[in-house]
Amino acid sequence: MLTRIIVVAVLIAAAWFLYRKYVAAKDIKIPGAGKRQAIMKKCAHCGIHLPEAESVQLEGLHFCSEAHKLEYQKQHAPHE
Ligand SMILES: [Zn+2]
Repeated sequence: MLTRIIVVAVLIAAAWFLYRKYVAAKDIKIPGAGKRQAIMKKCAHCGIHLPEAESVQLEGLHFCSEAHKLEYQKQHAPHE
C-alpha cells in the first residue's frame, strides 16, 4: 500500500515537473514581442540593425544595402 502511494506521488511530481517545463518553454518563446514582427538582423559590414525583410542576404549573412554586400564581398574575397 505504501509503495503505491509513493509511486503515485512520484508520478504526480513527474507530471507537475513536465507541466511546469512545458509552461516555462511556452512563456520564453514570446518575450513581449509581436507575432511576426520584424526580426532584426545586423549588417555584416557596418553593424547597423535592420529588419530581416529589408536586408540584403548573402550566404546566411545580412546587409543593410547592396553596396555593403558588395563591400563585404570585396573585403572577404579570397586573395589570389
Ligand atoms: Zn551596412
